[in-house]
Amino acid sequence: MSKTIIISNRLPLQISIEDDKLEVTPSVGGLATGLKSFHKDGDSIWIGWPGLTKEEIPENLLEKVQSEAKKENCVAVNLTSDEIDGFYYGFSNRTIWPLFHYFMQYTESEDEYWQYYKQVNQKYADEIIKHYEEGDVIWVHDYQLLLVPNMIREQAPEATIGFFNHIPFPSYEVFRTLPWRDEVLKGVLGADLIGFHTYDYERHFLSSVSRILRYQVDFNEVTLPDRIVKVDSFPMGIDYKKFEDAALEHFKNTEKEQSELQQRLDHHLNATPNAKMILSIDRLDYTKGIAHRIRAFEYFLDKNPEYIEKVRLVMLAVPSRSNVPQYRRLKREIDELVGRINGKFSTVSWTPIWYFYRSLPFENLIDLYTSCKIALLTPIRDGMNLVAKEYIATRTDHTGVLILSEMAGAAHEMNEALIINPNDFEQVSAALKQAFEMPEEEQMERNKRLQKRLRRYSVEKWAQDFMKALKKTRENQDSFQ
Ligand code: UDP
Repeated sequence: MSKTIIISNRLPLQISIEDDKLEVTPSVGGLATGLKSFHKDGDSIWIGWPGLTKEEIPENLLEKVQSEAKKENCVAVNLTSDEIDGFYYGFSNRTIWPLFHYFMQYTESEDEYWQYYKQVNQKYADEIIKHYEEGDVIWVHDYQLLLVPNMIREQAPEATIGFFNHIPFPSYEVFRTLPWRDEVLKGVLGADLIGFHTYDYERHFLSSVSRILRYQVDFNEVTLPDRIVKVDSFPMGIDYKKFEDAALEHFKNTEKEQSELQQRLDHHLNATPNAKMILSIDRLDYTKGIAHRIRAFEYFLDKNPEYIEKVRLVMLAVPSRSNVPQYRRLKREIDELVGRINGKFSTVSWTPIWYFYRSLPFENLIDLYTSCKIALLTPIRDGMNLVAKEYIATRTDHTGVLILSEMAGAAHEMNEALIINPNDFEQVSAALKQAFEMPEEEQMERNKRLQKRLRRYSVEKWAQDFMKALKKTRENQDSFQ
């Protein structure tokens, strides 16, 4: 029987070793969170890196890592620490990530990183080929593996291959600056179907293909010498029911022992009944506009002093990529900003920003989502932003206001949110005021519409739609041959 092979940089689990004992835990991130439910139900294997380098796994545990991964239908790709440095922290996160998010000033063009990127992409492709049988459907994910589709195609020309890019695809004028632009485009074009979150990313990709490679592009099809490749947009959803159910459960169990975080949140709400909490959650990443958000919040308090002691920004920043210098610098900048603003506005009984630098377990995330009447998400560039969707899914009484940057892919589907330009502090400040003053009926009306849409376009639907389109693309190709 044919199967689906999912490939992403990271497996949806993390393996750690302590005192010769293996521990397997689920890993954080939009993709892992998103595809997990699809992977569990289907007949599929998932190939990726388990989170430990070859040097970190004792020789005698290598087999065990593989067998633990196998229990979850996963196959672990072994990578050395040099490979992780060059491929992941290097080319993926110092070249592609900043470039594709329009941070050209952060983009490095080191040939050594590129060599590692090619080497590791080849490793993933070879691992896929080991497990591939004719009739299988291969689904490659994201910017770390842009070369994999064509590397598979070279070894299995008949394979059905899908590729999905989870981050933005930049405009041609930005993409063209990449020294390896031809190879990258050809790598992706090894797929039969290429998916993006939004129509804009799709358009940017097609324009790069036509202007750089000079391939013929008709509407959303690219004609290669031997095949036609289809390009389309598939906005990724969330596991809506999981978040809705968790929120319902949260409210049902008010009697149960509350988490320390929830006690703190409740204490704040009880002590200041008219006060509101503004939530923000993201990885500590320069694309997420965290510093902009804090400055806009400062601007808001400066302009609207009547809100002093009435609002609190609850900011969760999840540690991320701290091996990359920009991320370490950003951490320092945020620490200083939070300190400065808390120093500037705090009163004896109130601090304006609660800042958590850690990742939280799922239950605590739900505590945050459900306790905050406003969510303020201000990315400067974001492929999608699942947090925006998760926040809305947990608003089971339909109240709450989402303020969302127009630069997030999610903004295209979430028109009922207050959509802002994160660089425009005046606008962010006005949106905060509007959110505080918005009548409950209006909040409910907006959220019900959002919820209806998000419920329908869940992550399962996203995966199904992509798979259906991939199979259809192949059928059409085959019928033309
Ligand atoms: N998340 C998590 N633990 C945390 C904070 C966030 O698991 O402590 C999850 C969150 O629920 C969301 C994902 O991380 O599903 C972040 O996805 P998003 O698309 O917003 O951003 P990304 O990190 O993929 O850029």
